[in-house]
Amino acid sequence: MTVALAVASLESIREKVEANVRLDLEDGLALLESDDLLALGELADLARRVRGGTDEVFFVQNLYLNQTNVCRVKCKFCAFAATQRQEQAYTTSTGELVEDALRQRERTGFTEIHMVNGENPHVGLDFYVETTRALHEAMPDVHLKLYTASEIHHMTVLSGLTHEQVLRELQEAGLGSLPGGGAEVFAERVRKLIAPGKEHPDFWFHTHDAAHRLGIPTHCTMLYGHVETYEERVDHLLRLREQQDRTGGFLAFIPLAFHPENTVFERRGWRHTTGADDLKMIAVSRLLLDNIPNVKAYWIMMGMPLAAVALHFGANDVQGTVVREQIFHAAGAVTETEQKIEELVRFVREAGRIPVQRDTLYNELRRW
Ligand code: SF4
Repeated sequence: MTVALAVASLESIREKVEANVRLDLEDGLALLESDDLLALGELADLARRVRGGTDEVFFVQNLYLNQTNVCRVKCKFCAFAATQRQEQAYTTSTGELVEDALRQRERTGFTEIHMVNGENPHVGLDFYVETTRALHEAMPDVHLKLYTASEIHHMTVLSGLTHEQVLRELQEAGLGSLPGGGAEVFAERVRKLIAPGKEHPDFWFHTHDAAHRLGIPTHCTMLYGHVETYEERVDHLLRLREQQDRTGGFLAFIPLAFHPENTVFERRGWRHTTGADDLKMIAVSRLLLDNIPNVKAYWIMMGMPLAAVALHFGANDVQGTVVREQIFHAAGAVTETEQKIEELVRFVREAGRIPVQRDTLYNELRRW
């Protein structure tokens, strides 16, 4: 009975997709409840094409930085943060950070710096503004994708300024866009369970709204695979879609699978999401988010073989060739990065798609 209902729902969803009609909450639930993975993939790929998608698959070459892991929030899913007194705590000075980035730049041609941090209560807004300015002055042609909405909110707490005022200061210093982190799952029930110290989701939206109105594009994410229900997943996606209707500044959506290692969830027996769930989330994201042009298969998290399959489930971006994905692990970054470009190109081609290297704003830099 359940299967028959799901099949019937998929048929009505197909009709909507073919007619380019917006899907709703019930459609989202029917998609998540379906076990017909191949049908989901086919529907999502159809939706991508109906909305103008081509065979191009994008990636960017970027450098990941984390200036400080000191954080006041203590999210239960996080294995990165430390308190100031813990041995593994670090806060890198602006000078050291810039020198390090310049050294990496000499060896690799990254066009983007992606940096997120803990919410460090021991530094002020100046720390962030000076870092942004110094990175921009040292590498004016590199796009600076810095600071999650949670960090921007933290800066308003530190400075007493509004979200818009903080963003203006950072923009003037050279900020190019915001990454999508800090969204987690917007439902209050989930936030209370996994991130009770984090700000209300309204602040996440307020930050992205303000950024879009200032002409700062942003990204959006969902951290799935822990305590959230299907309803809460769909609700999260629909809230993002509503925001995009209002301001149109999201460049891409990135579904992030929860990894329980070294968190309290690992001790409680949580396991990784399955590949089937990851593919389902890519497909459902593409189907529901009809106004966000790009859906990323984050290969660093999924692994490249599954990310290549995700290209047939609605994804059109495999994120990037990441220089030093593990923070401050400098060894072997150059060779590894160059190999990864070739590897990405090979995977994309073997999926029957055209690899296109892009900049952060999806301008084409090179194609194979
Ligand atoms: S705010 Fe970010 S760095 Fe801090 S605990 Fe939460 S996820 Fe970790």
